[in-house]
Amino acid sequence: MPKVLIKTYGCQMNERDSEQVAQMLIARGYEMTTDEAAADVILLNTCSVRDMAEQKALGKMRLLAHHHKGEGKVLGFLGCMAQSRGAELIRGIAVDLVAGTQKFHRVADYVDELLSHKRSQSMDDARFSIVDVEEEPGSQEAIRDHTVRPRQGTAFVSIMQGCNMRCTFCIVPDTRGSERSRRIEEIVGEVRELVARGVKEVTLLGQIVNLYGRHEFEKRDGKSPFVQLLEAVHAVEGLERLRFTSPHPIGFREDLIHAFNRLPKLMEHVHLPLQSGSNRLLKLMHRGYTAERFEDLVGKLRAARPGIAITTDIIVGFPGETEEDYQATRGLAERIEFDNAFVFRYSPRKDTPAATMPDQLPEDLKEARNQDLLAVVNRGVQNKLDALVGRDVEILCEGRSKHNPDRLTGRTRTNKIVVFEGEPRHVGEVFPLRITHSSTTTLYGMVDVLNYAEPAEPALAH
Ligand code: SF4
Repeated sequence: MPKVLIKTYGCQMNERDSEQVAQMLIARGYEMTTDEAAADVILLNTCSVRDMAEQKALGKMRLLAHHHKGEGKVLGFLGCMAQSRGAELIRGIAVDLVAGTQKFHRVADYVDELLSHKRSQSMDDARFSIVDVEEEPGSQEAIRDHTVRPRQGTAFVSIMQGCNMRCTFCIVPDTRGSERSRRIEEIVGEVRELVARGVKEVTLLGQIVNLYGRHEFEKRDGKSPFVQLLEAVHAVEGLERLRFTSPHPIGFREDLIHAFNRLPKLMEHVHLPLQSGSNRLLKLMHRGYTAERFEDLVGKLRAARPGIAITTDIIVGFPGETEEDYQATRGLAERIEFDNAFVFRYSPRKDTPAATMPDQLPEDLKEARNQDLLAVVNRGVQNKLDALVGRDVEILCEGRSKHNPDRLTGRTRTNKIVVFEGEPRHVGEVFPLRITHSSTTTLYGMVDVLNYAEPAEPALAH
C-alpha cells in the first residue's frame, strides 16, 4: 500500500483541496502518512498570496529532492504556485508532478501513473514528469469528498472557485481563475451527507463567497444566489452551526445582512477584509468601496445581530501609502475595534498591477506600521476576550489543543478559540462552557454543565 504525505501551505481553501486529494487517494488504496521517510509520494499544496509562502514551498521541495534522490519517491507541487509557475517548476528541481488549481481531481490518476513509471525504472527518471495547469470547465464540482474522522464536529464545504475582482495587489484571479459556482442542490447534498456522518458545523468556502452564483443563477424574491444557498443549507436537519468565509464588502447587501437576524444557525462572526482605511488607497487597490461604506456595513451587521464578531485583513505599506493614509487605516481600526485582524506587510506579486506602481515602500517602514497597527488591533482583541471572562458561552469542541494535547479546544459562536479540560465525550459536541480567564489570543474555560444533552439555559454570550 503506497504511502502519501500531503503538506499544505496557505488558506482554508487549500486545506479543503488537500482533503479532496487525500480522499481520492485513500479510495484507491493509498495510505496517508506524516512520516516523510516512509512516504512513497510527497505532495506540496502551495500558496502564492505572498512571496514568502512560495519561497517556503520551493525551499522545502529542494530539500526533499536532495534528501530523497534515487529513492523513487514521487514529488509533486499542487495548487496556486503550481498554477502560476507551471512547467518552470520541473526545470529547477527534480519534481515529477505539477498540477494546477483546476486539476485536484486528476492528481490520483497522475500519482498512479508516476508511481508505476518509477517502479518500472531502476532509478529516478527526471525526463518523465507531468505538468497539467490547463483550465477545466466544471472542476469546481470536483471538490466534494471528505475524510470525516470519528467525532469530527466541523467541516469546510467549497461552494465556488475563482475570483473576478482583480484587486491590484492580488494574484488569486490568475491562480484560481474566474468565478465558477457549484449548484445549490450539490452543496446541500454534500452538507446532508456530512451531517449524517456526525458533523454539526459547516463553513461555506470561496474566494469571494457572497458573490456566489452571480453569473450562473437568478436573484429570487430579492435574494441573491448566496442568500438562497444559505437558506437551503440552513434548512438541513441536524446541522447546528453555519459559517462562511470570506465575503467581500462589495455585494454585502441588505438581504445578506438581514439573513443574520432570521437564520439562527448562522454564527455570529463575519470575516470582512478591509485592506485599507484610506479611500485613496482603496481606489488604487481597486476595492470598489470607501472606508465610510465599510464602517456603515459593520454598523448594520452589529445592529442586525448584537454581539457579532467582525474580523478582518489589512495591508500596510501598499505602494504610495503616506503617513496620512496609514493614519486613516489606524483610526478606522481603532473605531471599529475588530475582534481580530490579520495585518500583512504589502508583498509585491508578479504580474499584478501594484507590483509596478511607483513609490514602493521600504521594508523597515512597512514593518514599523505593521507593529504599530498590531498593537492597536491587539488592544481591541484583548478587550473583547476580557469581556467574556466569567460568562457562559456556547462552544463546539473540535478536539485536542495543538499546544497542549492534554486539553481540548473549541470555538465559540463568534469563532473565538477556547481551551479547557474535558473528556473525550466532549469532542464534536456543542455545549456551554464558563470562561475563567484569557490570554492575548485565547480564552480558557471550564465545563460547568456536565449534562449538556439537557443543558440549563444560561444567557449565552457570544
Ligand atoms: S476579492 Fe480581491 S483580494 Fe480577494 S481574491 Fe479576489 S482579487 Fe484577490
